[in-house]
Amino acid sequence: MPAFKTLDDLTDIAGKRILVRVDLNVPVTDGKVSDTTRIERVAPTILELSEKGAKVILLAHFGRPKGEPVADQSLSLIAPAVEEVLDQHVAFASDCIGAPAAEAIAAMNDGDILLLENTRFHKGEEKNEAGFVAELAKNGDIYVNDAFSAAHRAHASTEGLAHHLPAYAGRTMQAELEALEKGLGQPTRPVVAIVGGAKVSTKIDLLSNLVTKVDALVIGGGMANTFIAAQGIDVGKSLCEHDLADTARSIMETAKTAGCAIVLPVDGVVAREFKANAANETVDVSAIPADAMMLDVGPRSIDLVNDWIGKAATLVWNGPLGAFEITPFDKATVSAALHAAEQTKAGMLVSVAGGGDTVSALNHAGVADDFSYVSTAGGAFLEWMEGKELPGVAVLTKG
Ligand code: AMP
Repeated sequence: MPAFKTLDDLTDIAGKRILVRVDLNVPVTDGKVSDTTRIERVAPTILELSEKGAKVILLAHFGRPKGEPVADQSLSLIAPAVEEVLDQHVAFASDCIGAPAAEAIAAMNDGDILLLENTRFHKGEEKNEAGFVAELAKNGDIYVNDAFSAAHRAHASTEGLAHHLPAYAGRTMQAELEALEKGLGQPTRPVVAIVGGAKVSTKIDLLSNLVTKVDALVIGGGMANTFIAAQGIDVGKSLCEHDLADTARSIMETAKTAGCAIVLPVDGVVAREFKANAANETVDVSAIPADAMMLDVGPRSIDLVNDWIGKAATLVWNGPLGAFEITPFDKATVSAALHAAEQTKAGMLVSVAGGGDTVSALNHAGVADDFSYVSTAGGAFLEWMEGKELPGVAVLTKG
């Protein structure tokens, strides 16, 4: 991975105005922040800069206001939660550019923290408009990006600013990039990937990239049905994208050429209804009844997956192996998650997981803290796993 500057390279910052791009796009229920995970993730960067005496000016988006102010997407709603997590006073400016921002910044003392209003209240943010970037840049001496989760977008506050100000990765961005590098950039081999979840259609790029990078690809979840069906096996009423049979076959061909083993379920737990505790039975994948659907991979498949986890030095994981939200179809996901966590704790495995439902699946298994790294970045994590260049990262590493 090309080098990027971190906070370790920032010295003598007392009194400097540092624009810090953070992810405050947190869930809000009844006007209250219901999950502060994202705020907790960016807290170390904010507090470190504040302790070093910088004037910490936070830039963030919230929701999708489409370039104009929307009252219920104001970051003023999030400011109290930020204060609570940081245990510090956080001032708020009603605009991220212009007089409100300039006046609030002029009133700051060294070490103070200021949150600027939603960057997406201006059309220039998502368009990365030069004029808007210049207005933002006026407010700072230095730019720190700690929002990996927004790095797949080339927006003014995630990409444009790095062309105007000396740019550094914040601690969360740094941790994420280092973990991804260990997972897929320069991993210790063998590398095993587990990809599950509902559909192949949302993960074609991911699967196509992984088969060229990893030693084995375990396919589970609903998407495994598409691969099984593509081999001429009847999957009954299972979730299956029959129109993607060619895509599935071509991914398997690419894997063969690249020397990547494809590991598909050999048995499954089938039911007639998609609901918790539905009557179910375990069958070989070649014997799925015409009126049943596979909702989890079966015990022999779990052994197979756990064997691969045992052989791996590095594991990357996206997507559950079954319909983990409804018991007992969470069994394979939980079993594999526990095994990966044990191997990680024993120092035998580097385990990197993220994207979509993966975080809730690992939380459900109670092991999210035992993995080497669990990314909460969603889209950015997936695009990175798809082998795409993330503009917000590229701009930090190229200059
Ligand atoms: P994704 O967002 O693509 O990672 O998909 C996650 C969803 O896939 C979860 O809601 C699971 O319930 C669902 N899922 C996993 N396995 C199956 C399956 N065999 N049949 C139907 N849905 C599944």
